[in-house]
Amino acid sequence: DRIARRQDREFSEFRKRLKNTEQFKVTGGVFDDATFAALYKLVQDGYIEAIGGPISTGKEADVFEALAPEDETVAIKVYRINASDFRQMRDYLEGDPRFENIRGDKKRVVLAWVKKEYGNLLRAKKAGVRVPDPIAVQRNVLVMEYLGDETRAAPTLDDADLGNPETAYEVVREYIRRLYDAGLVHGDLSEYNLVVDDGELVVIDVGQAVTVHHPNSEEFLRRDCRNVANFFAREGVDADGDDLYDYVVSE
Ligand code: ADP
Ligand code: MN
Repeated sequence: DRIARRQDREFSEFRKRLKNTEQFKVTGGVFDDATFAALYKLVQDGYIEAIGGPISTGKEADVFEALAPEDETVAIKVYRINASDFRQMRDYLEGDPRFENIRGDKKRVVLAWVKKEYGNLLRAKKAGVRVPDPIAVQRNVLVMEYLGDETRAAPTLDDADLGNPETAYEVVREYIRRLYDAGLVHGDLSEYNLVVDDGELVVIDVGQAVTVHHPNSEEFLRRDCRNVANFFAREGVDADGDDLYDYVVSE
């Protein structure tokens, strides 16, 4: 068991390295053992080399920059098993044929959720919607393409320089429609889950996206359309939630 002992040692060194980094003092967040193990596995598998600064601290998950091999930057989203509102998460898994047999404990629901976010990113990408490229999932950690540059992560739409709001609205409208054609409804779409990366609109945070089989998918789609249309109407675009909904579901 020399190998096992060596792995233990490497693991605890990796953990020390993480614990010593400044940003964990800033966020006050400390990863639990299983999360450390997941991050370590991602290191061993060659997806990441080191964790960088936090981009965002949320209720359910934190997003960090991470260094990947060949000097690439990636983003990692680390879900908190314990803080998550798993009852609500479970409701969002309902009716999704990919996750039919998920019931029971918190951990299983959160882990299914992370896989769902990864799967939704893939599906959105295939449907021609610009999303962060999904790279890997390990337990409660999602690795994806980093959006932004060396100085900062890409701003969300509410903070971004819109350029021409009419054009931006048309792009988002097309995204919602393509998602819907691919059988997906985002479910939490607004100016806060769209970012502008180098002038390009990108849809993020697709963990809660449901398939059209979900009993509330129509209600979620109406709400997404309302949020988006209201935002653009405030930017001076002639946009309306009901019109947007009709456009999305029309043949
Ligand atoms: P939450 O569930 O906490 O809202 P999000 O997926 O929306 O999680 O991510 C939170 C924030 O992290 C986003 O508003 C965005 O600023 C940033 N973010 C998320 N994904 C990426 C990414 N791939 N690249 C850069 N920043 C990101
Ligand atoms: Mn979000």
